[in-house]
Amino acid sequence: MEYRKIGNTGMSASVIGLGAEHLDGKPYAMVEETIHAALDHGINIMDVFMPGDEIRKNIGKALGNRRKDFIIQGHIGSVDLSQQYDISRDLSTCKRYFENLLDNLGTDYIDVGMLFFIDSDEAFEQIYSNGIVDYVLELKEKGIVRTIGTSSHNPVTVRKLLETGIVDLMMFSINPAFDMTPVQSHVLSTFDDKQFAEQQYVTIDPVRAELYKYCEQKEIAITVMKTLGGGRLLSAEHSPFKKAMSVTQCIHYALTRPGVVSTLIGCQSAKQVEEAVGYLNTTDEQRDYMDIISGYQGELSGKCVYCNHCQPCPVDIDIAMVNKYLDIAMLDTANIPPSIMQHYGSLSASGIDCIACGSCEDKCPFSVPVIKNMEVASGLFGK
Ligand code: SF4
Ligand code: SF4
Repeated sequence: MEYRKIGNTGMSASVIGLGAEHLDGKPYAMVEETIHAALDHGINIMDVFMPGDEIRKNIGKALGNRRKDFIIQGHIGSVDLSQQYDISRDLSTCKRYFENLLDNLGTDYIDVGMLFFIDSDEAFEQIYSNGIVDYVLELKEKGIVRTIGTSSHNPVTVRKLLETGIVDLMMFSINPAFDMTPVQSHVLSTFDDKQFAEQQYVTIDPVRAELYKYCEQKEIAITVMKTLGGGRLLSAEHSPFKKAMSVTQCIHYALTRPGVVSTLIGCQSAKQVEEAVGYLNTTDEQRDYMDIISGYQGELSGKCVYCNHCQPCPVDIDIAMVNKYLDIAMLDTANIPPSIMQHYGSLSASGIDCIACGSCEDKCPFSVPVIKNMEVASGLFGK
């Protein structure tokens, strides 16, 4: 398993994580089999947004004395007052469900206390005016949550919350179709058959691309939900691209966005866990998603999507990584984050090693000026 740091929290998450939603309403044996398989494969992060008693108890029982081996994302505001998934911004209700989460899991702490579903300006205002932000800050102060996170599908609203500086982790919906959904549309409508079919997929939305870069710059870790687009991206019939992506391609797309530390894959069995971690043993060719999105470059032309389709480089430069660190440095060249300087510095080959052979530019579907980028990166990072 590969692990990535969650900012400065001292925690590192497995790049393949577990989304537990599909275990809701399932027998305990299924929950146990899935969680034990995840543990056996080195998966160490799980999202538990589900508000029901039974699933929470089943997860707690399956974890047993291995609770400390999992980073748990637990949500504040996820409720089922009407016997279905719902959102509450009422402080006492939020407290009740959060305390119940601790009880049901049989634990006295949650690794990431998540401000739930911050998708609108109204939600953003309510978590402040109703005392929910103060509550989660107090939980952190007491050590009941190790750090604070949030979940959202809206890049504009969530950015406001991230800019307050209280959040170390954001769970966000990322896949190629969502990334190409204009920021004005709510991505969850993408699952509406009509909109999904009619959506104009033109280019990666610049607001979404900026959000991911901002997270990497500020060391806010992103965990990814809806990596497979609810399974639709795996079907040529249901995908807007009219080509089926593989699970590997979807996972690789998410993991190559700036800021992303883990993709949380919904699993219901040991076999599905094995399939998800199978990503780690795939080849560059199997991961390459370029044939899916290369027809949608539009205004993206000239901008790197970090796909590595341009490899191999004769001097072994990881071209996508150099471009990624350069993009983040360019957000504010006078204040390049130390983490980015460090990451760039640890590359075995970098901009200065480029021999300007041009083979990458011939292969790049997005006309990225790689040779120029290597020169700029070398100047900025000093190697
Ligand atoms: S330069 Fe082009 S081919 Fe290479 S990683 Fe960037 S977008 Fe992909
Ligand atoms: S132009 Fe530079 S970065 Fe591109 S393949 Fe050649 S040496 Fe590598």
